[in-house]
Amino acid sequence: MAAVGERAVEGRFGPYGGRYVPEVLVPALDQLSVAWAEARDDPEFRGRLDELLRDFVGRPTPLYRAERLGHLLGRRIYLKREDLAHTGAHKINNAVGQALLACRMGKRRVIAETGAGQHGVAVATACALLGLECVVYMGVEDMRRQAPNVERMRLLGAALAPVEAGAQTLKEAVSAAIRDWVTNVRTTHYIIGSAVGPAPYPALVRDLQRVIGDEAREQALAAEGTLPARVIACVGGGSNAIGTFYAFIEDRGVELIGVEAGGEGLDGRHGASLVAGRPGVLHGALSSVLADDQGQILEAHSISAGLDYPGVGPEHAQLRDSGRARYEAVTDADALRAFRELARLEGILPALEPSHAIAWLLNSAEASAQAAASAEGYDLVCLSGRGDKDLAEALAALGDLDD
Ligand SMILES: *Cc1c(COP(=O)(O)O)cnc(C)c1O
Repeated sequence: MAAVGERAVEGRFGPYGGRYVPEVLVPALDQLSVAWAEARDDPEFRGRLDELLRDFVGRPTPLYRAERLGHLLGRRIYLKREDLAHTGAHKINNAVGQALLACRMGKRRVIAETGAGQHGVAVATACALLGLECVVYMGVEDMRRQAPNVERMRLLGAALAPVEAGAQTLKEAVSAAIRDWVTNVRTTHYIIGSAVGPAPYPALVRDLQRVIGDEAREQALAAEGTLPARVIACVGGGSNAIGTFYAFIEDRGVELIGVEAGGEGLDGRHGASLVAGRPGVLHGALSSVLADDQGQILEAHSISAGLDYPGVGPEHAQLRDSGRARYEAVTDADALRAFRELARLEGILPALEPSHAIAWLLNSAEASAQAAASAEGYDLVCLSGRGDKDLAEALAALGDLDD
């Protein structure tokens, strides 16, 4: 594997990443690359961002030792509590950072796409905070599944742009946002919600989310005196996972495990673009995608709107190929059981996305009860968000599960 310094060269991660975009967007992407490179090293920008992360977002988020879950699993388990960040998920880290960057670039109009609604809420929140105009593209199927988040965005002053194409979920919302950006690129910054898209977005979003892993690594060392044996995170576009993994990449003894949406199982509909995908271009970057033999992008499926995406960030495709991280899929049903288990064992209603990471732990402990209990060390899981947004979906599905 290439050294950390080499990986970001020209926005490529091994063969993945790059820019597969209309010519008209290239100057804006160049401007964004330069603006971020300058802002990142500017003490004034850094100071303002750190202040907002502390006082507005509520960072650092705690690292919580989940005693009862750990007892069940026969291991020590720590949860990185991104569910306690303002607006209830890690996405606010990226939204506040990019909104601040938009101000620095003199762009007063912000657009965003959203799937679960969490990114839309985060962006609407950041725009209200900084006084920016905000338009959020959202598939109408997601608007139905995530109605409370639609109301939140409107209350925060954002304009909702419903997208009726295709499966009416995240993939179509991204395409609509890209079309808007092409038309309005001079006045508008596009805040992409995950570590996907054309360069420099995957690296920019990772840089803004790495605060999760930087904090967690320090907190874990303070609590245990050693690094975790395994670091586990769910993977949709991959931003909470890369943000958590990044601090540990050079720690060769730490296993990195990304958990994708196995949906109905890998023979049925799912969202496992790393476990069951192939190389392809989606939304401006080459990565591992769900596609048919002709290269047509397939519809993804997951019970969790945030994992319902047929692509993934290019850096994860490279981490998979190099073997530095391992990716596995967990079904809707297993994620639901984990959702209920964490609520009852720890008093935490997780979002359905990180329920996949918890489910992977439960599954692997069941598969090898002896091995899991006797394996050295402890585990660190990114609890990327809270479950309030998923209550209706989860209750309906749990009813089906119990019938
Ligand atoms: C959006 C979301 C995800 C998936 O996005 P990533 O970019 O893969 O992190 C995961 N968890 C929560 C709570 C989300 O809202």
